[in-house]
Order: sequence, then C-alpha cells, then structure tokens
Amino acid sequence: MHSYLDLHLHLDGALTPAMAKELAALQNITLPVSNDESLKKLLTVSPDCESLNSFLECFALPLLLMQTPAGLRETVRLVGDHLLSQGLIYAEIRFAPQLHTALDMTQEDAVKAALKGLEETALKANLILCCMRGQGNEKANEETLELTRRYLVPDGGVVAMDLAGAEGLFPTSRYGNLFEKARAYGIPYTIHAGEADGAQSVRAAVEYGAARIGHGVRSREDPEVMEMLKEKGITLELCPTSNRMTHAVEDMTDYPLLRYMDEGIPVTVNTDDPGIEDTTIEKEFHYMRELLGLTPEQERQLLLNAVDAAFTTDEVKDSLRRQLS
Ligand SMILES: [Zn+2]
Repeated sequence: MHSYLDLHLHLDGALTPAMAKELAALQNITLPVSNDESLKKLLTVSPDCESLNSFLECFALPLLLMQTPAGLRETVRLVGDHLLSQGLIYAEIRFAPQLHTALDMTQEDAVKAALKGLEETALKANLILCCMRGQGNEKANEETLELTRRYLVPDGGVVAMDLAGAEGLFPTSRYGNLFEKARAYGIPYTIHAGEADGAQSVRAAVEYGAARIGHGVRSREDPEVMEMLKEKGITLELCPTSNRMTHAVEDMTDYPLLRYMDEGIPVTVNTDDPGIEDTTIEKEFHYMRELLGLTPEQERQLLLNAVDAAFTTDEVKDSLRRQLS
C-alpha cells in the first residue's frame, strides 16, 4: 500500500454509512433511513451532482451525529482509524466548533471532545479549527479564534485555523479583521479561497497572511496572483473530485494541477469531503493519473509538498519524509 498525506479534510464530510450507524447507536439516535443503500444516498452526492446546494445538504446528517462530546470524540477516532487503514501516514482534520453547539456543547466542549478522539486514534493527525463565512456569526468566529489561540500546539492537537463556508456569498475581503488578530496571535492559518470565488479571493487570503490556500484552484484567473503564490511559496490544497462536484472547475480535462506544479507553485492533492464525495486519497491520485497522466515522480513531489506545508514540527516532517522514501 502507498503512503499518503491529506491536508484538507473536513470531519463532517468524512462519514461513511458504517460510521453513521455506529455513531447513531452510540447516542441512541434513530437514523432517518435504516438500510445501507438509502443511508449512502443521504451521505453522498451523486457523481453528476448539479448544484452546490445538493452538495451542502449532505452535511446535515453527519452534523446531527456530532452534537454530543461522545459523538464528536468517537467521530474523530473513527475517521482517524479509517484513514489509517487507507495508507494515510498523516492527516489534518478540520472542523468548525460553532457547528457543534446545537445541543449542550459549547465550542470549547467541542474542541475538547475532538482532542480526546485525536488521542484515541492510531493515526498521526492534527486538528484545524474552522471559522465560518456567514451572517451574524461574528461572535462565534471570534470565539473560534480565541479557542485556537488557547489550544494551539506545535503538534498533536490544534495546529491552525481556517475559514470555510460560502465563499461566493461572503467574500474573503470581509474577514480581514479576523485574520489580523490571528496573525497578531501567531496562529498559522489556511483560508478556503479561489473555489466558488475567483482569484481576487486568493489574493485577499494571501494579503491576510494565509500560509496555505484551501483549493485556490481558480488562482490561474490572474497571473499576478499566480506570481504571488510562487514568490511567497504558498501551498494550494487542491481537491480534484470536490472541485468537479461543486463545479469550481467546469472542464476537468483542463484541471490546473500540473500547470501549477510547472509554474513552481507548491500544490498538494487532498480529499476535502471523502464521505460525501465517496472518495479516498488513493482515488484522488488515481483520478489525476488517469486524467492528467500524473507520473510517479510528480506524485511523490505532491506528497513531499504536503509534508513541507503541514502544520507540524520539523521533527514530525523529517519522520514523514523518511516514511515516504
Ligand atoms: Zn474544504
């Protein structure tokens, strides 16, 4: 089995039907459907997914199963162990604490529960806390920022912050203050940008000091932005199947992975929402081999890029490089 890394993976997008059943049983939750086939339909989008909405609807059930400390903790453990069985040697699992407060948990309870799950999985992994784009959740984002500051460690826990959600509706340019504070606190961060919105969103994220860009697939729309990424060595977290399904890229034969590599921009390949997309990191690399003729050397470079860009210590990176050689 190959060794892989995944730097861009959402916890609530990673549930398999088997995990959903286990989490429902653990919390005495009755699932809306009982057979595996219908459960899979609820959790995954069809390959010919037409809209971002049908994609986003798939997050409803997973989130319902992660509203208690026991449920969230077990989700992290299950997802971690599942990734380990697929050849992952390192993963950064991200989630938005503010989406786990529908019942009694506070954002901090959610962070603590996820940290316990992280301790219980055998996978080498770290957590990224997501702030959410949206209306009226400024306080919640501030709280996520403060929690990231409080729980931040160099490795083995919360290692960075992110901004996720509807980029097309809530542009990156609205979040300058949030990241100004994150920068002042010394928090490393990645920002979802250049997915539903164009290259100007990537430019804003870079100007706000993002160390990495979630997706950034639309960076090619502006040569200046491409130059910025190259000059600053900012890593793009590309997620091919996700980009196809949400129509961030309409013509996948023109997927810019190799172009970005050729132009000296550090890129990585990731899954985004493996449960919802019914994908794995192995499938993503296979997809790129079939679609673009990705060579073993290029594949290795992409994995080394992921090691370089990981939010972890030099010591862990050295160990990961050894495992890849
Ligand atoms: Zn994402």
